[in-house]
Amino acid sequence: MISVKNLSKSFGETDVLKDINLEIGDDEIVAILGPSGTGKSTLLRCMNYLCEPTTGTVSIDDVVVDAAHRKRADVRVLRRKTAMVFQDYHLFKNKTAVQNVMEALVTVWKRPKAEARETAMALLEKVGMADRADFYPSKLSGGQQQRVAIARALAVHPQVLLFDEPTSALDPELVGEVLATIRQLAQERDFAMVIVTHEVEFARQVADRVIFMDGGSVVVDGTPEQIIEHPSDPRLQKFLSYVS
Ligand code: ATP
Ligand code: MG
Repeated sequence: MISVKNLSKSFGETDVLKDINLEIGDDEIVAILGPSGTGKSTLLRCMNYLCEPTTGTVSIDDVVVDAAHRKRADVRVLRRKTAMVFQDYHLFKNKTAVQNVMEALVTVWKRPKAEARETAMALLEKVGMADRADFYPSKLSGGQQQRVAIARALAVHPQVLLFDEPTSALDPELVGEVLATIRQLAQERDFAMVIVTHEVEFARQVADRVIFMDGGSVVVDGTPEQIIEHPSDPRLQKFLSYVS
């Protein structure tokens, strides 16, 4: 289980996250919705310590990292239990698709290259990209690059997979293939997923739970029926009327 307790984050004078509390089960699929500038990306980044919270704790199972007295070794373990998929893919441009997927296996996990390549090929197969294994990112469409990025995230066997608007940089005709890949992972339920997205209909269909954030706080947290189909909070109603 991943747990966030009393987490806050300030950049200088600006309080971006205010006392966030969340518990996410081992195979739970959680979608986070909210207006721009609300702190959604910052929350995801704090969850894997890409960004240091100002106060509060983040824990995955028995690894507890408290912002007030964090230990570097614990931060490293926390990071290794998570993987992140970014809006703009973040692939290594000088590496082919398969080399991108192998990278962490070889450098972080010290797997032999042949074995890492085999694992990477199986993952590319899973996301429908095996036939592009030797292509460089510049020769792939945005949707294809994002599917390679998803395969790369899977390579490290995360307990929690964090997605930050995985389709918002894509041309509309490429969104479907990436959502289909995420949907397939959601059905397999091998790990927890936290998906920041503006795709409300996708969230409704795929997520077990939907969280609506505004102004650095969790405003409502509930089932897709409660949050999307029968929203009662006025800020949420306003947000949904803009995005759908
Ligand atoms: P969007 O939907 O546009 O991606 P978001 O909900 O992901 O928005 P964040 O990127 O988390 O929002 O940003 C929340 C607030 O924190 C914004 O006001 C932003 O300007 C501020 N912020 C984020 N990162 C930094 C930083 N490194 N330094 C200073 N301010 C930052
Ligand atoms: Mg963001």
